[in-house]
Amino acid sequence: MIFASEYSPTTFRWDDWYQAIGGRTISIKDVDRYLHDIREFQYPRFSGEIHPTKTLFSSSKHASDYIKQKALSFGADEVGIAEIEPSDVYRGHSVQEKYAIVIGQKMLWREFQEVPNEQSAIECLRIYFSLGEIVIRIAQEIRNLGYPCTVEHPIGDSDVLHIPLALKAGFGELGRHGSIIHPKMGPLFRLGSVITNMELSIDSPIDAGIAKFCDNCKACRIFCPAKAIPDQRSPEAGKDHLGNDRYIIDTGACFPYFGTDNYCSVCLAVCVYNHKDWAKDFEGFQTKLFPNLQLKTPPNPVDPEIDKHWYPLLHR
Ligand code: SF4
Ligand code: SF4
Repeated sequence: MIFASEYSPTTFRWDDWYQAIGGRTISIKDVDRYLHDIREFQYPRFSGEIHPTKTLFSSSKHASDYIKQKALSFGADEVGIAEIEPSDVYRGHSVQEKYAIVIGQKMLWREFQEVPNEQSAIECLRIYFSLGEIVIRIAQEIRNLGYPCTVEHPIGDSDVLHIPLALKAGFGELGRHGSIIHPKMGPLFRLGSVITNMELSIDSPIDAGIAKFCDNCKACRIFCPAKAIPDQRSPEAGKDHLGNDRYIIDTGACFPYFGTDNYCSVCLAVCVYNHKDWAKDFEGFQTKLFPNLQLKTPPNPVDPEIDKHWYPLLHR
């Protein structure tokens, strides 16, 4: 059993945060439909029967390659494997599984041409649903091989933190905006996991020079409407997988904007790692190099007195 470490953050308390900004006001039909479908059609498929006979692999590497190949064939854009440590488990939670199979799926740059916007909000939920299908299918595959496992859906309610696991699994580096930047997918992707005790070989974190790049680039900080992205790294927040102090977003400044303006996404869309050749859509869509920004005056920051992660109070 792996228990959360004393430094593990709490899960994000969505209802409390929304209460702090006066309730949920964003209403987008397609977003609500995806949320409904995840709840009604995906949650019931998180568990299932485990085949009574275990399939044995010649090595843990062979088993990992098999699972990764399956994930890619189900539509994953990236898959990596990490060993779960106490700091990867949310405070107050515990898991019985040793390994996390972390799966990423790209969002379409063409849906982030204007932000904040209903289209980008719908695209986030489309990928939550689509990635949800992939993690459910991988879990079914593992159970068919005779091993128990647990689905950690991208939408939340997880026991484990997807981001540190993905960093350990070699997905990329933490950007100044607090999201992972993948060397080929950029920041526009989402994460989900399946955790299991099936013996797997793990991947290694990477240093692709992204963290160093962020130290000089400040595009996300400059364009963040809520001024929630820091100028400096925060030593109080601990180290990332490369040993750097982390950049930590002022959640109390970000959330009132995020929660009232189509889930924002400005920092992801302006990130210069979208402006590479590989970030263009290759299916005949003409995309811009830089998105149109439709920014509103930010609401006042909030700082609800709830169990929450630490964040710096910027420009308050
Ligand atoms: S989501 Fe929007 S408000 Fe929040 S940090 Fe990113 S750009 Fe700023
Ligand atoms: S916009 Fe620049 S500073 Fe911000 S995360 Fe992207 S690369 Fe890093």
